[in-house]
Amino acid sequence: MSLSLFSLAGKIALITGSGQGIGLALAEGLSEAGAHVVLNGRDKAKLEAAAKTISAAGRKVSVAAFDVTDQATVEAGVATIEAEIGPIDILINNAGMQKRAPFTEFPVEGWHEVMATNLHSVFYVTQAVTKRMVPRKRGKIISIGSVMSELGRATIIPYTASKGAVKMMTRGLAAELGKHNIQANAIGPGYFTTEINKALIADEAFSAWVSSRTPAGRWGETKELVGAAIFLSSAASDYVNGHLLMVDGGLTAVV
Ligand code: NDP
Repeated sequence: MSLSLFSLAGKIALITGSGQGIGLALAEGLSEAGAHVVLNGRDKAKLEAAAKTISAAGRKVSVAAFDVTDQATVEAGVATIEAEIGPIDILINNAGMQKRAPFTEFPVEGWHEVMATNLHSVFYVTQAVTKRMVPRKRGKIISIGSVMSELGRATIIPYTASKGAVKMMTRGLAAELGKHNIQANAIGPGYFTTEINKALIADEAFSAWVSSRTPAGRWGETKELVGAAIFLSSAASDYVNGHLLMVDGGLTAVV
């Protein structure tokens, strides 16, 4: 057993939604493990600022700004990365959003927006990437699910539906692409202190409930997702396929 099993040296990793939050933490972690990371999001200036910090640490980083909810834009973005940077070895489907409203009042536009960002994007980006991985007979697909891939929760029904679907998409991808030496797995984060949870963090009662509901007794820090992402990106996980790895301080293991 050697630590080189976890090395990502020479690998190219595209991480969607990586200008901030969990995506940025994963980009920093994968680049530290040796990967050339490609940052994605809709705000080019934000991505360039994040890239500056990563390259200042002597690591390889590029920027590919595109909206993951538009299939043609995704295909063009992936084609450009492959032509200008090289073959994508690792894809992390991380871009996501959340909207809250009681189900009976949930606006249909909100439903479509959440589905487009959290689910349709995973189809577009994964298809564009895996059709190029299949002939190369290697690749790692990691999709960011959630504890909501497993649990229901009021007022965020499109979010839970999208994250549940990400879990099942991961299993289907494992079934179809395993024979091409492509592993598709997912990570299920618990509650982490990022922009998506700004309102929840500000709500003291809710924030305390998260800590008491979680066996770890606290919210997660984004750097605590890095180990799982490196494992699922590396040779260490070559016989792990279709798995949803919860990184939630134990939340989904207990009631
Ligand atoms: P943030 O809101 O901080 O980050 C979301 C990222 O997604 C941003 O970088 C945003 O970039 C990007 N993004 C959103 N829409 C698009 C789009 N259409 N095209 C490209 N990029 C897009 O949240 P987190 O970092 O917390 O979330 C990351 C992932 O982790 C999400 O999938 C989320 O559901 C999941 N997750 C988070 C948990 C948490 O507790 N924080 C728990 C469980 C899962 P920009 O707006 O600049 O385009």
